Amino acid sequence: MGAAGIKGSRGHAAGEPFWARSWLPRRRGALVDFDLDETTQALERMVREFADRSIRPRAAKHDKEATFPTEVIDEMKALGLLGLMIPEDYGGAGLSTLAYSVAIEEISRADAAVGVMASVHNSVATYPVLLFGSEAQKARWLPELARGERIGAFCLSEHASGSDAQAMETSARREGGLWVIRGTKMWVSNGEEAGVYIVFARTPEFEEPGASRRYSSRCAAINSRERTSTAVRSATSSAE
Ligand SMILES: Cc1cc2nc3c(=O)[nH]c(=O)nc-3n(C[C@H](O)[C@H](O)[C@H](O)COP(=O)(O)OP(=O)(O)OC[C@H]3O[C@@H](n4cnc5c(N)ncnc54)[C@H](O)[C@@H]3O)c2cc1C
Repeated sequence: MGAAGIKGSRGHAAGEPFWARSWLPRRRGALVDFDLDETTQALERMVREFADRSIRPRAAKHDKEATFPTEVIDEMKALGLLGLMIPEDYGGAGLSTLAYSVAIEEISRADAAVGVMASVHNSVATYPVLLFGSEAQKARWLPELARGERIGAFCLSEHASGSDAQAMETSARREGGLWVIRGTKMWVSNGEEAGVYIVFARTPEFEEPGASRRYSSRCAAINSRERTSTAVRSATSSAE
């Protein structure tokens, strides 16, 4: 996938890579380098071989029977494909976002549903803990996510809020020293199989009165086995 192989469609000179065009915006003086280093190339080969051997032959059956590909997930755990971007200190592979994308591309080539499962687990279900979690929360959740002992899920969308996440109605209030979450989420990938759910909720008690469409939200990691939760981080956003 070298950068020179990616061509744009704006009629530029033959052989000229699209990123060399002068009209492309430059951010911080450089564009992303899409050349794959040796580690990422080895990952690409390994995942492609695994996907062709183990994922593709089972894809039609899982689609037809609407079943979760448990045996495929077990093999992915063994290969370390469920902790791609989690730092090595927490038991993950510590790979880059580009390497993660290459792995998801190869998995999705064989079965898009397994690609979504792996993507949600490795990115949106893991990243909030990695970026915003306390050290104790990282130590609590990341090793189990990296080993795939718990599958991660990400719960943002609702019946009337998709792209416009601010329209979400799920709320979280503190009651008697606990956070009580009320609401209904939809389209939760890995929903029935997950062991950790990252749930987004409005926190009305922190909303600023009088400011139109200003809201406060929190995200919590829900432990499905022990039915406990920890607030990952509070965040205040504004749509004004
Ligand atoms: C395979 C799959 C897996 C999913 N997994 C999850 C999951 O794990 N967790 C989760 O929370 N959600 C999940 N979702 C839901 C997904 O995140 C939402 O479908 C997505 O946010 C879009 O919301 P929507 O379907 O309500 O569409 P809408 O938000 O109603 O958008 C409809 C169309 O309008 C366009 N549009 C929206 N707003 C604007 C705007 N301001 N300007 C111009 N165009 C706009 C959109 O691009 C789109 O084409 C999943 C969806 C799919 C398909």
